[in-house]
Amino acid sequence: MSKDGGAGFLTTRVDVMVNWARKNSLFPLPFGTSCCGIEMMATLCSDYDMARFGAEAIRFSPRQSDMLIVAGIISQKMAPVLKNIYEQMSDPKWVMSFGACASSGGIFNVYSVTQGIDTVIPVDVYVPGCPPAPEGVLNALVRLQEDIGAGRTRSQIREINQRQVGRHA
Ligand code: SF4
Repeated sequence: MSKDGGAGFLTTRVDVMVNWARKNSLFPLPFGTSCCGIEMMATLCSDYDMARFGAEAIRFSPRQSDMLIVAGIISQKMAPVLKNIYEQMSDPKWVMSFGACASSGGIFNVYSVTQGIDTVIPVDVYVPGCPPAPEGVLNALVRLQEDIGAGRTRSQIREINQRQVGRHA
């Protein structure tokens, strides 16, 4: 009801509603392989409470998830498994690269470790750190939600990220 007692109404577009719903109900699939996995758990616990952002309903099935969080070292042996899991997720889906090892191999500059998961699957948001602080993870989540809410495609997200990296270089 509006102030004068008349019936109120709201107009919007379907895509705006859908993007709003998507960004506020992400279902993360955790792919934690090493120490970063522990920090990911801390981000989900009550002190940092990722539930505040509507992204706490962890699913361990790729078919029920739309955000893959890769936290830790991805060995060359593990890379095909990661790719397989990513491909099993339905579209639309997003990927968070959590920490230095997932994003670039970190301190493991060796033949057996993938030098960044973006050599295997596409990445939408990177979280720096070894391990990243939970605040950084939440910041990355909010950034990703902004992109989802705005209906940005992966290439648009990539372009914006590159522009921001260029500005801070
Ligand atoms: S970035 Fe650091 S904390 Fe994370 S998996 Fe690599 S070594 Fe461990």
